Amino acid sequence: MINFDYVRATAVADAVRHIAGHPGAKFIAGGTNLIDLMKEDVERPTRLIDISRLALNGVEQTGSGGLRIGALTPNSDLAYNPLIEERYPILSSALLAGASPQLRNMASTGGNLLQRTRCHYFYDTATPCNKRNPGSGCPAIHGLNRIHAILGASDSCVATHPSDMCVALAALGATVVAVGPGGERRIAFSDFHRLPGDRPDRDTNLNADELITAIELPAKGFSKNYTYLKIRDRLSYAFALVSVAAALEIEGGAIKEARLALGGVAHKPWRDETAEAALAGRVPDEAAFRQAADVVLRGAKGLAHNAFKIELARRAIVRALTQAANGTPQIQADKTIR
Ligand SMILES: Cc1cc2nc3c(=O)[nH]c(=O)nc-3n(C[C@H](O)[C@H](O)[C@H](O)COP(=O)(O)OP(=O)(O)OC[C@H]3O[C@@H](n4cnc5c(N)ncnc54)[C@H](O)[C@@H]3O)c2cc1C
Ligand code: SF4
Repeated sequence: MINFDYVRATAVADAVRHIAGHPGAKFIAGGTNLIDLMKEDVERPTRLIDISRLALNGVEQTGSGGLRIGALTPNSDLAYNPLIEERYPILSSALLAGASPQLRNMASTGGNLLQRTRCHYFYDTATPCNKRNPGSGCPAIHGLNRIHAILGASDSCVATHPSDMCVALAALGATVVAVGPGGERRIAFSDFHRLPGDRPDRDTNLNADELITAIELPAKGFSKNYTYLKIRDRLSYAFALVSVAAALEIEGGAIKEARLALGGVAHKPWRDETAEAALAGRVPDEAAFRQAADVVLRGAKGLAHNAFKIELARRAIVRALTQAANGTPQIQADKTIR
């Protein structure tokens, strides 16, 4: 057992006040990741600040034609929100590909962004791990690395970010809104999660004393031609080996704008704007999609057990883009289960 304080925040300012000057404190929302990590002794917070009752739940229109999603909106409510289903179905699809209905009822939007890697060694406190214990080493590089990164990894860490929702948010170009002691800060989604470099202990660029209050979506939702494709060991209730969020705007038989982001392959949701630019102006056909896949995977590097992910990602990109172009998004097995 570890001892920790527990406080329930009554307002955003109250939550920020409770965490200021307490480096060992953590916010708790749905608790679906943090409690597991505490039970495994990976996280040892000295204070838990319960934010679950804050008025940050819901989806509203923004002045610029987009949507603002409150950080405490449960993943299930977000997936089935009519505005999301109609205007941003790629986000709905990605959410429903994640976890189980029960977990999605508890999991919050803000917490989903900050869920930690599923690397086996990170969870096993009997082993070294640079992310959990900086400077101790990375046993995954020469160990069990089937689920690990093929893009953007470093000599310090080869972990992947496990979220589905974040892959769709990366493709959509969302913005994270956070409040800290210095006031409100807006962070472009591409700058929110970090590559491991020599600081794998830092998953994101959010400061420890900042509270995520909302995620904002731009006006464009790519609702006509999109697909979220998740490849995993089981059809449900498993993290992605590779996932692809593909969105196209097609006009006059050619691609006007493309969005392409991958999950399960890197320390952050991997959006590739060079591949997107290469698709612009092209006829949406297999040749264009194969070339885009080559661009995305130009720096891919396999380890002893995960090299298969490179070819898997290539095929998943081509399939997702083909489905998006055809207007036949991936149907999730549990789409009707709430
Ligand atoms: C068995 C299992 C299977 C799963 N499968 C999938 C899957 O397939 N795909 C997928 O995407 N996810 C999956 N998940 C992960 C799940 O989606 C996350 O655990 C969940 O989204 C986290 O949200 P939460 O509100 O429970 O976060 P919590 O556990 O409460 O918090 C997680 C972290 O976020 C911080 N935090 C929470 N809210 C805020 C905030 N507003 N501001 C600042 N910090 C905050 C906490 O301090 C903590 O560090 C799975 C989880 C489990 C347990
Ligand atoms: S891959 Fe990262 S999380 Fe996994 S053992 Fe290595 S340092 Fe730790």
